[in-house]
Amino acid sequence: MATPDPVALTQALVRLNTVNPPGHEDRCVEILADLLSSAGFSCRTHEFAPHRTSLVARIGGRPGSAGMRAPLCFTGHVDVVPLGGAAWQHDPFGAEIVDGLLYGRGSSDMKSGVAAFTSAAIACAQQLRDGPGLSLIITAGEETGCEGAFAMASSPQARELLGTAGALVVAEPTGNLPLLGHKGAFWLAAEAKGVTAHGSMPERGDNAVYKMARAALALEKFEFDTAAHPLMGAPTLNVGTARGGLNINSVPDAAELGIDIRTVAGQDHAQVLQCLCRVLGSQIELRKLLDVASVFTPATDPWMQRVFALCAARSGAMPEQRTVSYFTDAAALRLPLGMPPVVILGPGQPEMAHQTDEYCRVDRIREAEVLFTDLITDWCAPSP
Ligand SMILES: [Zn+2]
Repeated sequence: MATPDPVALTQALVRLNTVNPPGHEDRCVEILADLLSSAGFSCRTHEFAPHRTSLVARIGGRPGSAGMRAPLCFTGHVDVVPLGGAAWQHDPFGAEIVDGLLYGRGSSDMKSGVAAFTSAAIACAQQLRDGPGLSLIITAGEETGCEGAFAMASSPQARELLGTAGALVVAEPTGNLPLLGHKGAFWLAAEAKGVTAHGSMPERGDNAVYKMARAALALEKFEFDTAAHPLMGAPTLNVGTARGGLNINSVPDAAELGIDIRTVAGQDHAQVLQCLCRVLGSQIELRKLLDVASVFTPATDPWMQRVFALCAARSGAMPEQRTVSYFTDAAALRLPLGMPPVVILGPGQPEMAHQTDEYCRVDRIREAEVLFTDLITDWCAPSP
């Protein structure tokens, strides 16, 4: 079986429209599953909604055998964000290459990453059969809150479907620099209830907007009881939306704030929720909208040291220790996979994600395939 060219595979994936919503990720999953099955991977799909298909492809590994490490795992998503309002100079689904840049929605975030690890995995298929093994988790619905990954993680067959992993590579756009983690996202709705009355007789009602406004002011002053993280900085809180009242001449009986909290490694979301409940009091009810944990692996982790060394060997410079602000599927997958160390490492240009005329450098896609092959070979090498 010939190894697919990672650049041609990126082009093939970019040409399939998987803008989320509606997604239609099954289009990409179909061609990837075909390639991987032909190379000897066992493929299973998981649909969280019609045409919203994720794929788990696995090869090698002998689960439970003594002394054998768990498989190495790569993950990436095949949905892409909408095109935005501005006109594109390049066809967003054309995947044309001009001056070494591959243009199209998802070229950087992150069909190039998925293509690079799929090509590397197929190239290594032979050596993977008898070693600790490899699994690829290719997800749907990542851009709208890791929907596909959370659906797999919470499904009754999660354990059997995902297996465990000894280490996890998230091929999101990093320009092929290894990153140690990302902040968590904790989104809440703060609801205030009241009693409606005619606007000319407000004394007969109980105004929910006033309660919501007091809550917003309390949140402006809110301070986390967590020290800043050396790489991620401090946690943040922002009130992003405020809604209340249906018509000007009624006392509103309901109002709601939307709160966007970004947490750092070591912060527990349940504890954050408790603190907020205390600060906001009994007049406000908090409802979870999104709960994505932070992900962090210290640079001192032995596998992370290997990743940094392999990247340095290819690029000629030791990468800096950094984290990113966006969240990834690792937040959903890490626990069911057995809490492996996680690196975020992929060929896309981080500043190109979600942009008009998104592109990926072609040389970075080839470089990523080489790096991913290094990581696989290193993982499969007999331990010293
Ligand atoms: Zn992404």
